[in-house]
Amino acid sequence: MKLLLMGPPGAGKGSQSERLVKDFELTSISTGQMFRESHRNEEPLGIEAMRYIERGELVADDITNEIVRKRLLKEDAERCFILDGYPRTVSQAKALDDMLAKMRSKLTAVINITVDKKAILERMVGRRVCKQCGLSYHLAFKPTRQDGICDVCGGTLYQRPDDQLESVRNRLEIYESKTQPLLAYYKGRGILREVDGMQSFDAVYQAICAVLKELT
Ligand code: ADP
Ligand code: ADP
Ligand code: ZN
Repeated sequence: MKLLLMGPPGAGKGSQSERLVKDFELTSISTGQMFRESHRNEEPLGIEAMRYIERGELVADDITNEIVRKRLLKEDAERCFILDGYPRTVSQAKALDDMLAKMRSKLTAVINITVDKKAILERMVGRRVCKQCGLSYHLAFKPTRQDGICDVCGGTLYQRPDDQLESVRNRLEIYESKTQPLLAYYKGRGILREVDGMQSFDAVYQAICAVLKELT
């Protein structure tokens, strides 16, 4: 199973992918997570990428394609993976097609999680992320048991710099101009499915599972 989760920033891609990874033993490939981790480890790539991320801009296609290419070559990505946050531009989608074709592979399904703008803003502004393991929480919708502390690893929660209101607006504009056109790209191939992301975590998850059942 080779899945791609799409949807605007804050739609719930990361949250749903967390659960899918556990239940279906998929390898999670999230470019946003990879950039944040690289930045946390003070690697040059992460430091360079964070300059764009902080402003809510996209990291350059060639840098992004290269980290995905390397990740896909690892053994754990051979059979099953779930991509979240990549591709984000038509040029990245074409690069991904080339990578997969070389590996004699292709995507099983593209799932687009839809949410309205008001919910996107609420979700992003209240999002808190674990510094240590990257899990995402929400002040109101998914609070931790102990304030500011990750339930799973005990790490400290923080607000991503790109979840501040100024960057959020920029990210939404970029999503509409650069990423939304990808939906038509995948629709044309008949592998795009939509899931209503305005429901509870659990209901969204059930809807995704129903799509997977139908496709596999
Ligand atoms: P994305 O990866 O698409 O940016 P996340 O999974 O990080 O989105 O979710 C964004 C924020 O919204 C997080 O704080 C998360 O806890 C919250 N969230 C995700 N899905 C839902 C949902 N179905 N209902 C309420 N809040 C949600
Ligand atoms: P969200 O799901 O909230 O949009 P992500 O964690 O997927 O956040 O991405 C955070 C940021 O990392 C993006 O706003 C962008 O700056 C950068 N990024 C992530 N994936 C890509 C990508 N495929 N291409 C370019 N930039 C990316
Ligand atoms: Zn944690």
